[in-house]
Amino acid sequence: MNLDKTDRKLPGATPELISTDLEAMSASLSDSLQPRPHDGSWASRVCDYTGITLSWTPGPMSNSLEAVYPFVIKGDRIAYHANPNVCTIATAVNYAKKRQAPISLPLFAQWFTTIDDPLLDFETRKTRLTWIYNGLSNVATMGHIFSLELPHVDQVEKWAQWTPQEQREVLEVLRTGEKRSIVHRLLFGCDGRELFHVSENRWGNCQPSTIKDARDTVYPTLVKIGQQYGLTKEEFDYFLTIPSPRRGERVFYPFYVLSRSQAEENGWDWNSVKSFSLLTARTMAKYCNRWAVAAGRDEPHAAEAMTYFLAAYFCDQIARIKRDKPTATREEILWLNLDRWDVPTVPWARHPFKMSLAKGPDHGIAMMLGLKVPDLERFDPLRHIDLSQRTVELDAWLTNSAMGNNNAADWDSIRTLLRRVPLRHSFWRVDERLGDRIWNGSQTPSLRPVPPSPAFAMPLLPIDDWLNGADQGVLQQQCCGEQFSTIGLLLRHCQERHSYSESPTLRDAVNPDQDDVDKAHWNSVVICDICGADFTAAQGLRIHRRDRHPETLAPEDSLQGSVSAAVRGHFICEVCGSDFILRRNLLQHLALSHDRHDGLPCTQCDETFATEDQLMGHMRKVHGDPKPFKCQECPAAFPQRNALNDHVTGVHRNQKP
Ligand SMILES: [Zn+2]
Ligand SMILES: [Zn+2]
Ligand SMILES: [Zn+2]
Ligand SMILES: [Zn+2]
Ligand SMILES: [Zn+2]
Ligand SMILES: [Zn+2]
Repeated sequence: MNLDKTDRKLPGATPELISTDLEAMSASLSDSLQPRPHDGSWASRVCDYTGITLSWTPGPMSNSLEAVYPFVIKGDRIAYHANPNVCTIATAVNYAKKRQAPISLPLFAQWFTTIDDPLLDFETRKTRLTWIYNGLSNVATMGHIFSLELPHVDQVEKWAQWTPQEQREVLEVLRTGEKRSIVHRLLFGCDGRELFHVSENRWGNCQPSTIKDARDTVYPTLVKIGQQYGLTKEEFDYFLTIPSPRRGERVFYPFYVLSRSQAEENGWDWNSVKSFSLLTARTMAKYCNRWAVAAGRDEPHAAEAMTYFLAAYFCDQIARIKRDKPTATREEILWLNLDRWDVPTVPWARHPFKMSLAKGPDHGIAMMLGLKVPDLERFDPLRHIDLSQRTVELDAWLTNSAMGNNNAADWDSIRTLLRRVPLRHSFWRVDERLGDRIWNGSQTPSLRPVPPSPAFAMPLLPIDDWLNGADQGVLQQQCCGEQFSTIGLLLRHCQERHSYSESPTLRDAVNPDQDDVDKAHWNSVVICDICGADFTAAQGLRIHRRDRHPETLAPEDSLQGSVSAAVRGHFICEVCGSDFILRRNLLQHLALSHDRHDGLPCTQCDETFATEDQLMGHMRKVHGDPKPFKCQECPAAFPQRNALNDHVTGVHRNQKP
């Protein structure tokens, strides 16, 4: 239970209060466990946000404890994980929400539902996407003015400054998106730039030198990149630029069409492009790619190349949409400029659609833009970007964080899972006016936002339960004369009985922590410091050095002299100088290469034997291994020593037997 990590630090939280909360929470959670219908032996729980049955093994569908709102008022103190604020939801849903208002999730669900609906015509789709986009921009604004992005301890300071009436208002705004008076008050004097900017540091005033350089060199190069992907200058301007604050000029803007008016309003210029590119490169090096960076496998030109990479990536994407949808109009193509989950990308630091660099399917890889810069040459954007060699994708923050720690095989299921979060839920009821306009910024006047309609409505629980610290029991809900002990069960009932949408099947999976996968991978990799080739074992590097770089071995030098100290083993062969990490490998090497043995060594343990028969008997009996003779240079294994010898001479020494 998380209470010690979260609530303990809140003001007024004594150990007694914490343990009372903990007991109440445990009691209500265990009361709500359902015996599994088919055998009755296991208890299960249904996700309170999506209605799926949660899994007990780690993975995207596993249980995670969730506080519905950032805080509840319990008596005269502010609490967090306290009834009725506690529910359990699928871990993947929790990742997708992180520190945002609860209504971000139903809005994501509506985005996916709208994009996936094959029956919607383009005009209807546009009106609905505009409404959802505006709503999510307002959710980002809430996150900012209510300080949801701060750590709990800092948030609580801000909350403590509000009167009880204001705290109630904040909770209401967070669960409905109604623009109440506290929003007006907090937004007063808060300009658009503060909400729609690329990083914590504003880009500030554009320096004339940057602007001139960008106009004279960067922009023409970007247009040429477009031409490499078959886009005319006119098409490049239409799809990937907006008017610059300097009259008559264009500035690179590859982000979603719906965010263009905010960019123009806030004076997006070449300096913003530069800030965004540098920040993206820096974030990649510092977080997702850090293990590869530590192993020295990042691309040295990444920061310099980022703007050009963004251009190449989006030109490629536009060209692909043109190919795939030959009948689409230019405007339709513009609206299809979406990420891997069909989510738009924007540059704003606090927006759930903020663009970020994400790994392709696999962890345990270096994040590469596909830069191929020959030694001693300067980076040339027109010749040195090879997108086919890239290992990264450009995704919205939502996509990146929900996919983040999960295997690629689960991504479809997670997206389907997120689609199940309803618009009208007992914990929230998204206001119909939330997406009518962006609270603090402008939208394109020609776009008419129309709210999506809910598939069904669950009764909204009274906010007083969250302000009085009501205990378990208040969440007992009725529908169709049936009583439900959890919100998740009521939700499932509504999905099955009151909605026409299909019940998708979801894959259940167990995933390792992907950061650990990266770390383990890069810790096991050894790198040739001459040509940069990498190996997952010291043996591979040693052979590579001998075969590829024999000139680096001084004639009188023994072989291990060329292998870096970090990968050198502790057992050195006195005949040829090869080194080994395990003693038994050295013994095997002595027997194999120099025909010197104090008996035949076992490849699995440290025992030695006088005859091959004895060794074979030992292998079968003790290690159960029918192929005890392992090649030390590749994964091959053999039942007899002769076969191994033939393999080594034939395959690794390149000699005819
Ligand atoms: Zn502000
Ligand atoms: Zn019902
Ligand atoms: Zn090498
Ligand atoms: Zn040797
Ligand atoms: Zn053994
Ligand atoms: Zn081999």
